[in-house]
Amino acid sequence: MAEIRSILDHYPDYEATIGIEVHVQLSTKSKIFCSCPNQVAQEPNKNICPICAGYPGVLPVLNKQVVEFAIRAGLSTNSTIAHVSEFARKHYFYPDLPKNFQTTQNDRPICQEGYVTIHTLEGTEKKIRLIRIHMEEDAGKNIHGSSGESFVDLNRTGTPLLEIVSHPDISNAHEAKEYLKALRLIVQYVDICSGNMEEGAFRADTNVSVRKKGAARLGTRCELKNINSFKFIGDAIEYELERQINLLEDGKSVRQETRLWDTKEKKTILMRSKEEAADYRYFPEPDLPFIEIDQDWIERVRTGMPELPYHKMNRLMKEKGLSAYEADIIVSDLKLADYYEQAAQHTSNKILVNWILRDLMGLLNDQKITLAECRIKPEQLAQLVLLIEKGTINNNSAKEIFEHMAATGKDPHILVKELGLEQIGSSQELEALVRKIVDAHPSQTADYKAGQQKLFGFFVGLVMKESKGKGNPQIIQELLKKYLG
Ligand code: ZN
Ligand code: MN
Repeated sequence: MAEIRSILDHYPDYEATIGIEVHVQLSTKSKIFCSCPNQVAQEPNKNICPICAGYPGVLPVLNKQVVEFAIRAGLSTNSTIAHVSEFARKHYFYPDLPKNFQTTQNDRPICQEGYVTIHTLEGTEKKIRLIRIHMEEDAGKNIHGSSGESFVDLNRTGTPLLEIVSHPDISNAHEAKEYLKALRLIVQYVDICSGNMEEGAFRADTNVSVRKKGAARLGTRCELKNINSFKFIGDAIEYELERQINLLEDGKSVRQETRLWDTKEKKTILMRSKEEAADYRYFPEPDLPFIEIDQDWIERVRTGMPELPYHKMNRLMKEKGLSAYEADIIVSDLKLADYYEQAAQHTSNKILVNWILRDLMGLLNDQKITLAECRIKPEQLAQLVLLIEKGTINNNSAKEIFEHMAATGKDPHILVKELGLEQIGSSQELEALVRKIVDAHPSQTADYKAGQQKLFGFFVGLVMKESKGKGNPQIIQELLKKYLG
């Protein structure tokens, strides 16, 4: 039996239906409907104006960059971009929303029916379809003081958001995490969002329901809200699936409710029940004109789009011969992918990717630094690989040089000279060393000749040591074979 990959493996009669709504905070210069800076501010109510504060009579003006970013999101998720779309008012009362309505989109969102490709547990490709992507404003924040008073900070008000809503195509926690990782990577690649989940720049609300396989109707769903890590979202889904299946197995029913993830108790807990759907009294926003997007605009945005992660991964496998595993790690971080591609311009040697994944990543981990802080530039790492390829240095010396490169930022060919690590590749020099070692160990030589093959490694080690680690291992082995007969 294969390892248990999902709680559903224990309940073969059931299937899960999962849909996810993601709120993506756009990294535009200014807010969505005013010219206030779209920045986090320490001081409350610093980056606000009468529009942010919802004064009566003020008029919003749409930030064109928000539309452009929404088009980028749409194109990168294979969505249809609407030539005409409109804003709507969604009414609700809460102190952090002084207008008492959120300006969002309802009937006519900017993007519809896209998809994101993921890999399932079985390793096959699956398209998670998107219902829509729409633009909207974020609300402010309520801050609750220690002695019972509450404050309203409107700095976040008017932060541009994209809400990306998937179809309920997701079947388990693995697929949910894959979908979120793929989507976050896309918005990072097309440079519209930092993707920082701790700071709330990428937030997911997950709708989870279960039903008996083959049942005509979907089960009642619960919404998992405000979970800010992929791992916790996966854990919360797994917990929720089991909770809901157990309720049904006990003859009870699942209630529609919003639940939170308790990271200490490792379980979902009730936040509020949703007996009835809220009536938001949506109506078209009268203060903003229709958003008209002609094909020219869409094509201009398309022309300026970078290569997407999915395409980059396939290209690196095809062109550079990376394995799926290697390509996946390289592509999962845009800065790492850029680093690899810059280095790969100088060498096509496949050991380059090993040096990046093993040595460079190891270095970043050990020193707790970012790629930008690392002193080894991509061309320099490529030069190091070329020195190994040409036989100027062996692997041991390369590792030593690598450490010095990290510490000093110097070019590897300079370090080879400074450290005297040039590989001894001349047969004459090595031949003298081999002869010396063989002559000094007559009994081991006799044993080797009598059939003790494993002594060969003993001789290789001694010659390498005698060469101070600089001997070309291949040539040493060839010479030893000759001398040991
Ligand atoms: Zn403002
Ligand atoms: Mn929303």
